[in-house]
Amino acid sequence: MMDLTGKCALVTGAAGGIGAAVVAALRARGARVAVADRDPLAVEAEAHLPGDLLDPAYADALPGAARAALGGLDIVINNAGVITRGKVTESSDADWDLSLGVNVEAPFRICRAAIPLMAEAGGGAIVNVASCWGLRPGPNHAVYCMTKAAIASLTQCMGMDHAHQGIRINAVAPNEVNTPMLRTGFVRRGFDPDSAVAELGKTVPLGRIAEPQDIADVILFLASDASRYMCGAVVEVNGGKAVG
Ligand code: NAD
Repeated sequence: MMDLTGKCALVTGAAGGIGAAVVAALRARGARVAVADRDPLAVEAEAHLPGDLLDPAYADALPGAARAALGGLDIVINNAGVITRGKVTESSDADWDLSLGVNVEAPFRICRAAIPLMAEAGGGAIVNVASCWGLRPGPNHAVYCMTKAAIASLTQCMGMDHAHQGIRINAVAPNEVNTPMLRTGFVRRGFDPDSAVAELGKTVPLGRIAEPQDIADVILFLASDASRYMCGAVVEVNGGKAVG
């Protein structure tokens, strides 16, 4: 049921930690994948769609471009994301625009464009990447947490509204994952990323933070028929560590 032979998929943020693992997981199951990122050319895939998700015209056109490049569109993974740090009083207009633009507006635009294409073809699956912090916020990341709550809510709404069209829309909500997003944050705060990741692992009941593949496998499940009765779910993937 996790066989994706003949399926066509679009993945955003494909050059990042989780994105690259998702692309590899989808292709390993037989899917043909169009990769979107600012610079996705190094990612092995069937089609490359470089661009900036802050450009509304690019985000609006991505599902159609993926369908044109691959000959269909069965799966969309809205994975691209940015993190801004700080309390509301420390957040700039630029933080707000960036966070809302990449984490909420772009997936909104991509879903809005993809849903009619999928409906026309008889159905599909969309997986959005939220965060544990969208369900139970952590300190000092107010705008980021709010955007992840927004994408979780949008997923629940869309999961209800489009199930009758054969389109299943779900989200994953990871806790800490060992990717450039997490590691650059440590570097910026003056920590050695390897030691910081090891220390953080001790706070997780499973004994380590997630690797990108741990999240990619759950995304693969939600994109495949193995999750055929799931719509509007926000699935926490946290090694037993619930925030809050
Ligand atoms: P990452 O930084 O490795 O990858 C994010 C990718 O998104 C990058 O390749 C980046 O180029 C792309 N991107 C960002 N802004 C873009 C834009 N304007 N246009 C086009 N592409 C853009 O981060 P990651 O950890 O792999 O994050 C993937 C998703 O997982 C994000 O939505 C993130 O919020 C979520 N997440 C990550 C963690 C974690 O601990 N790493 C935890 C929970 C949720």
